[in-house]
Amino acid sequence: MEVLIDNLSKKFGSVTAVEALDLDIQDGEFVAFLGPSGCGKTTTLLMVAGIYKPSSGTIRFGETVVNQMQPRERNIGMVFQSYALYPHMTVFHNIAYPLKLKGVSKKEQQQRVQRTADVMGIGHLLDRRPAQLSGGQQQRVALGRALVKEPDLLLFDEPLSNLDARLRLTMRGEIKHLQRDLGITSIYVTHDQVEAMTMADRIAVMNQGKLEAFDTPDGLYERPKTLFIAGFVGNPPMNFFNVDVSQNGSGPVATNADMHMSVDSSRAANALAYSDTVTMGIRPEDVVVDADSDIRGEVYIVEPLGRDDMIDVRVGDTRLIALADPKLEIQTGDTIGLHLNTEKAQFFDPKTEQSLI
Ligand code: ATP
Repeated sequence: MEVLIDNLSKKFGSVTAVEALDLDIQDGEFVAFLGPSGCGKTTTLLMVAGIYKPSSGTIRFGETVVNQMQPRERNIGMVFQSYALYPHMTVFHNIAYPLKLKGVSKKEQQQRVQRTADVMGIGHLLDRRPAQLSGGQQQRVALGRALVKEPDLLLFDEPLSNLDARLRLTMRGEIKHLQRDLGITSIYVTHDQVEAMTMADRIAVMNQGKLEAFDTPDGLYERPKTLFIAGFVGNPPMNFFNVDVSQNGSGPVATNADMHMSVDSSRAANALAYSDTVTMGIRPEDVVVDADSDIRGEVYIVEPLGRDDMIDVRVGDTRLIALADPKLEIQTGDTIGLHLNTEKAQFFDPKTEQSLI
């Protein structure tokens, strides 16, 4: 089922939590709402669920405007951070609850609960109560309860936040698989960019109540439209510094007091036309240790990340985060050369913070 959000706003007194949001979610799509705390993700989700009433704008499920519909009329499944299971009920009755509310016969309840629980890998736990389950099992019950009524839309609000890192990874894969197999349109609220990047078909990045971008994970990573997105997506975050871009004999160059480097002519075309200093962005994985480079700096911090070492290097007053092979055994205090992979560089207008690519 398509979800079409048009000019949607929500005010709480003088606080505008969501402002003029437009979003078209396709049938079967998995969309993540990503953004810092307080940006309006949950408020938007709760309006889609029908728990909050929009201050203005419309929400449509397919052709139907649902603004006036009660939550239970919307045929949605919801999974929250706190699993919100009924502690006094068994797993069976927790999962069966939405079917009971709908007046589904006992026999059919039995079949559908068993089938859903089997899919979730908790078919053997139906007689237990929530307190007798692990966190991951409880979350599977919550997911089972959301799925059992075969909803047209699944809404997730930070469902994995209460799980430990390893279980989060497993559940991430399971939810994604299940969603793809069932083809249910899904909205997934998270402030964890790795979750959004690995699970979603498209990500709606929100910032201060507004939609900052709506794009695929690759699109956000490779072609960030604003400085905010460039800095928010990617870990460790993109390096930013100011440069002047000018033309020399062999092509455009980017220069500041600390560095001088040639840049890709097609990427730098708009930056070249810009009359003032621009913000250049380059990801840590595109800053590589190169003994022959003229760009030299002192290593301030080395932080082992496992596969890479994250190194914090000061080149004059410019600070660069780079990823280095641990085999290089770079130490704090070393002076090293750095090569910047400028064919991956981003350029931004420092005033509007929009991309110049
Ligand atoms: P988080 O990741 O912290 O949950 P969020 O992006 O989901 O953040 P929202 O919960 O949607 O953000 O909140 C958006 C803004 O609206 C915040 O400034 C918040 O304080 C405000 N807000 C949310 N709910 C209410 C409410 N019921 N009454 C008043 N203000 C609210």
